[in-house]
Amino acid sequence: MHSDSNDYAYLAANWAAVRARVDAACRAAGRDVAEVSILPVSKTFGPEVVRAAMALGLKRFGENKVQEIRSKAAALAGADIEWVVIGHLQTNKAKDVARLASEVQSLDRLELADALHRRLQLEGRVIDVLVEVKTSPEESKHGLPPAQLPAFLDALRGYDTLRVRGLMTLAVPSDDPEAVRACFRQLRRLRDASRTQGHDLPRLSMGMSGDFPLAIAEGATEIRIGTAIFGGRSGKPETYGTERNN
Ligand SMILES: *Cc1c(COP(=O)(O)O)cnc(C)c1O
Repeated sequence: MHSDSNDYAYLAANWAAVRARVDAACRAAGRDVAEVSILPVSKTFGPEVVRAAMALGLKRFGENKVQEIRSKAAALAGADIEWVVIGHLQTNKAKDVARLASEVQSLDRLELADALHRRLQLEGRVIDVLVEVKTSPEESKHGLPPAQLPAFLDALRGYDTLRVRGLMTLAVPSDDPEAVRACFRQLRRLRDASRTQGHDLPRLSMGMSGDFPLAIAEGATEIRIGTAIFGGRSGKPETYGTERNN
């Protein structure tokens, strides 16, 4: 159990390397680095790794399974951490989310908004949410179909426990940078169109380890980085975009 902090020296090196790449992507895009924040995605890594990351000054962590938030939050009770839900959420997890999460980036249907709202009212809490939009043509992906976004945003005005702050997406997994970039561009355009409809959505959460420079070029304000900070989730299949164990 006991581990030396030097065991995690790679975290500091990875974090510095990601920061440098973000800075370079911002410069290339003519953007101010202060406009882009990094959400470390700690899924599949244990509380000791999260604790080591906290020593680097990180306090928000993205997770895609509520069960993992539960166990890590218990192991790290009292620590100054904000848990951000980024994976597909089943409504029966709303209770734990309302209790433990500071933010949900995967809000994609009214049934879920309803369940979260009821539980948040009971907890007396208000959380930030991003609407997850499906910009990738693959059928398996979660997220709201883009055409439904205007009506969905209007409906969300009815939930005073949910502060709608922006949009989130996962790009198509593709080797073709233009295909990936088109997903990010679509999210930005949807955000711009929502503004004219009276919705102020400052945040665009898009870009992961493999594609974040493209997302920054298209206007991301937040990138979600797992592998490039914490290393490979070896032996574990990618679970985002599926319902596995969530
Ligand atoms: C796992 C995950 C990420 C991070 O992916 P990496 O490729 O490891 O950086 C980002 N967003 C979501 C929704 C995820 O599930």
